[in-house]
Amino acid sequence: MLSYEQARKKVIEQVGKKKGPRAIASVSVWDALGLVLAQDVKTDREYPPFDRSTRDGYAVRSNEVSPGAQRKCAGEIKAGDVVRESLAEGTCWQIMTGAAVPSGADAVVMIEHSSREGDFVRFERAAQRGQNIVSKGSEAAAAQTILKAGMRLGFAELALAAQVGAAQLQCAQQPRVAILSTGDEVVLIDETPGPFQIRNSNSVSLAAQVRIAGGEPVVLGNAADRIEDLEEKIERGLKEDALVLSGGISLGKYDLVEGVLKAVGAEFFFDAVAIRPGKPAVFGMCQGKPVFGLPGNPVSTMVTFELFVTPAIDLLSGAEARELPLVEARLAAPLNEKSGLTHFLPARVEWREQVPEVKAIRWQGSGDIAALASANCFLVVPTDREKIEVGESVFVLLRKDVV
Ligand code: AMP
Ligand code: MG
Repeated sequence: MLSYEQARKKVIEQVGKKKGPRAIASVSVWDALGLVLAQDVKTDREYPPFDRSTRDGYAVRSNEVSPGAQRKCAGEIKAGDVVRESLAEGTCWQIMTGAAVPSGADAVVMIEHSSREGDFVRFERAAQRGQNIVSKGSEAAAAQTILKAGMRLGFAELALAAQVGAAQLQCAQQPRVAILSTGDEVVLIDETPGPFQIRNSNSVSLAAQVRIAGGEPVVLGNAADRIEDLEEKIERGLKEDALVLSGGISLGKYDLVEGVLKAVGAEFFFDAVAIRPGKPAVFGMCQGKPVFGLPGNPVSTMVTFELFVTPAIDLLSGAEARELPLVEARLAAPLNEKSGLTHFLPARVEWREQVPEVKAIRWQGSGDIAALASANCFLVVPTDREKIEVGESVFVLLRKDVV
């Protein structure tokens, strides 16, 4: 049986092969959060475009400033002012953060390190050449590539695009991910379930996870545990860029998903992973599309999505597969789990005096959505560990949506 790392590699390998030209759309920077760039973005000029003061203070000639030195303040420069004159010897100019440093000046003295007496400024300490100035072109040259195709656009990337005037960005269209739940016991969330029926919460969590991963969910509802219904809905799902199913992949008599996928042409790369929850997870390629059969128990569905579907959505978006957001933390309560599988336990990490400390949450197993809803991470118990003591170092997989 594959470890979860090996299983992820299989997904990345197979879906990575499909990485080709994607449909591209021009998107406003206001709407491009989370999208993947399909173009390089270059600067329109040097950055900064002028020698910029990073402080409120006085523009000076550094060799004229020593402790106790006094200089006449000959002018004032605000951010945005056009500066034509140069700084005359023996003088200084008051300057604001973000303003252009006049030629002749080679340092800015912070206002805190000076005192003003009428037209004169007294300096408390020596000035170093270049201090508090970001020189023209030091952040980027003109026509320099500052964002590359394949990058995911977060808030800083969007700000950078805005800074250089790239108000419209060529972005890869988000992969459309079909979501199909299965099970005779599953009813729509706005229906009243019978005594032994359950609402289709998996389609809701899966759609949210698809969105967070950067895909566009296409919710296909629920298929009954019948070959014909499954086949019809799976065929429909295969029209999208990827298909994610929940339920119907264990060894029960009515777990028909794998068989139906095979019948419509799937080639499987794993159908079990050494994890709990989530062991029966299935991944294959079918009609050129990645297909995931995730176990139906809600927490299993959520864990296996994070581990295996997220990297596929990255690749289908034209980006690299992101690493898992694993963080080291100090165990705050002892653990005793059966070994042989890597466990992903709902847990809460808290930063006490900046040090992450983690505690597993009491839960009733992989059907316990409430436990996960009060968790902000999964505590990862390695395959070869059974008992872990307080104070030991463990890894947690962050829930990116709430941390
Ligand atoms: P399965 O993997 O099909 O054996 O399903 C395992 C269990 O997961 C079922 O007994 C249900 O309790 C639960 N389950 C299956 N599908 C869903 C769903 N769409 N939403 C919520 N729970 C589900
Ligand atoms: Mg089922």
